[in-house]
Amino acid sequence: MTSKRHTAKDIASAQVQTVVGLLRGRDVEKAMAHEHMFVDFHETSDPDYMNVIWSNKIGAAVENASILRSQGVNLVVDWTNLGIGRNAVALRDVAVQSDVQIVCATGIYKDLRPPALARISVNDLARHFIDELRFGIDGTSIRAGFVKASATEEGVTSRERPILRAAAVAAKETGSALGFHGPLAATTKAAVRILEKEEFSLQRFVWAHAQVSSLDENKALADRGAMLQYDAIGARVDEFFGGPVSDSTMLDRLEGMIDSGFEDQIMLSTDAAVCINPPSFQYDRHNTYLYRYFEGKLAERVGTRRTRKILRDNVIFAFRRPLKIADP
Ligand SMILES: [Zn+2]
Repeated sequence: MTSKRHTAKDIASAQVQTVVGLLRGRDVEKAMAHEHMFVDFHETSDPDYMNVIWSNKIGAAVENASILRSQGVNLVVDWTNLGIGRNAVALRDVAVQSDVQIVCATGIYKDLRPPALARISVNDLARHFIDELRFGIDGTSIRAGFVKASATEEGVTSRERPILRAAAVAAKETGSALGFHGPLAATTKAAVRILEKEEFSLQRFVWAHAQVSSLDENKALADRGAMLQYDAIGARVDEFFGGPVSDSTMLDRLEGMIDSGFEDQIMLSTDAAVCINPPSFQYDRHNTYLYRYFEGKLAERVGTRRTRKILRDNVIFAFRRPLKIADP
């Protein structure tokens, strides 16, 4: 009883917007759905925010991405958006040096607006996101590949609401994917109500950190068209949300989704961060785990065809470039 969302032909002909240009689905070898090359935990108004020796950070990221490349990965979706250290030029540098193509996000993390966007209206903020998707980021022609939105875990705050609305408008107007940081189902559902008021369709919604919520909650949103990510693969503890991490729990959850017909709608990733500012915030999680250890276990449990679909095809489908965005 699989609800089919895409065919092999759809995947081959889809295109993904990366920081070095368009990548065709047929050219994707292995993919990672939710990773971070850089994350900054300072407030955006703090002088230390993004105040790092970038050549060092880029060097570390290239070293890491080169290991991923040696595992066969050539597509990484990076979920660092505005407010937590997004640097599109650095991502391009990493992509060029490692030969791993990287998708960069637009959108603002929680209410962490950069100073220049602190007081602008919903419409102007939406316009800013749209320009990053259509034209480029920070004065370059590097385009964002999706919108990332989020909310405080316990509930959407009044400062986050306009940012969510702007994200919805931008995703709807461009047809782009909207990824949502949503460990708790109640907050995710509250955010979805705000997004839907702006006429955003769940067909392009990606629910990140969905493993923290129950299988029933996962199925309920998948049933409405959302794509889901289980993105703490390889973690020893989930120090952020206290969600499940063991390989066997993740495999059981995946199997639950597959049995309910959602094998076209689930993705896996590690949600690791290669470089964190300040470095003392570094958490123990490694993005090399997915293909070094988990892929084999997954194949043993669900077979190689489904493994390829979950690890690769669904990522291409979830983040495919919409037809509404024209060629450069
Ligand atoms: Zn993340």
